[in-house]
Amino acid sequence: MAEAKVHAARDAEQVRRLLDLPEVTVLVRQMDALRWTGRTGYGARAMVGMALVKSLYCIPVWTRVAALVRDHAALRDVIGAAPSEWACYRFARRLREHHDLLADCLDAVVARLAAETPGMGDRLAIDGSDLPAYGNGQRHLFNHGPLRERFADPDASWGHRSSVGTRKGGGFYGFKVHAAVDTATELPVAWTVTTARESETGHVAGLIDSARRRGMAVGTCTLDKGYDVAPVYATLAERDVRPVIPLRMTGRVVRGLDKPPSCEHGEWRFAGADAKRQATKWRCPTAGCAPASRWVKADRLHPLIPRETARYKALYRERTAVERGFGRLKNEWGALPLRVRGLDRVRLHVDLTMLTCLGTALDRAGAARKLAA
Ligand SMILES: [Zn+2]
Repeated sequence: MAEAKVHAARDAEQVRRLLDLPEVTVLVRQMDALRWTGRTGYGARAMVGMALVKSLYCIPVWTRVAALVRDHAALRDVIGAAPSEWACYRFARRLREHHDLLADCLDAVVARLAAETPGMGDRLAIDGSDLPAYGNGQRHLFNHGPLRERFADPDASWGHRSSVGTRKGGGFYGFKVHAAVDTATELPVAWTVTTARESETGHVAGLIDSARRRGMAVGTCTLDKGYDVAPVYATLAERDVRPVIPLRMTGRVVRGLDKPPSCEHGEWRFAGADAKRQATKWRCPTAGCAPASRWVKADRLHPLIPRETARYKALYRERTAVERGFGRLKNEWGALPLRVRGLDRVRLHVDLTMLTCLGTALDRAGAARKLAA
């Protein structure tokens, strides 16, 4: 079973264990089959090892990864060499060109985690999070100065981020990672990286489809107010996923149209949902009305898990799992700071970070299983 809240273990042994995962072994074999040897003849195992060191030790640049491995006997031993930063750049380019191989490896890692962790993916939380660019996005070269004509990262753009803790919300320049996190283990199960400007609501379908493809059942999906728009409800209903999303104060909400039915006996009570029928059932509190119950069609104002219920409240409280998931990726697994530019490089960086984080979860799940046996 995947351990909740996986923390990084930074040592050579951990690198070796990750390289020995069957899914990583397949990636190494496929990269080697491309007859990539690097100019100085490093095998793919050494180069994947460098990528794992980079996120295990939270090192933003290859130069310092190369320097660490050069000076670290145990790491050199596990990797079997001390590749230069130039070898790392060439390998990263090769990985971007054959991105499908890394995608298959990530599919396999998440699929095995799901298979070995009962209930994983049943309850998802989805959100987007900021990845500030490695480059300046200000329109002017300096205060009241001329307009900037060349941008270091042409794929980055201005987006909005919400406040977190004591940090105010506001604009930022860069990219966004959109992710679906399993609320029980707080592990990401599907993700995508876009330029910051892109809206978040358009990615819900892709994330859920990807989680399903990786073997998860996906029963409920918890999102914040930013996703409280009709297309998101339609997307979830089409996929038979129950939405847990708070209401924005739209005109219909102000008029109280989201309230349960009521009569002279008081507000009616929730009496069950029927997903096939896409409706919820409500009952007169005294059963004094005829009929004493009726069905209400599910929509944004009347979701299958009504907002009045304890179940909704418990599910909504779990939404913070996605925030903690992002926090861990950024601070413990080295997703930030970005020291690469361009969408495809940022994507590769995030995918390698995910591989290290999820591979570690998989390795621990295996170790826990052996202990239990
Ligand atoms: Zn009544």
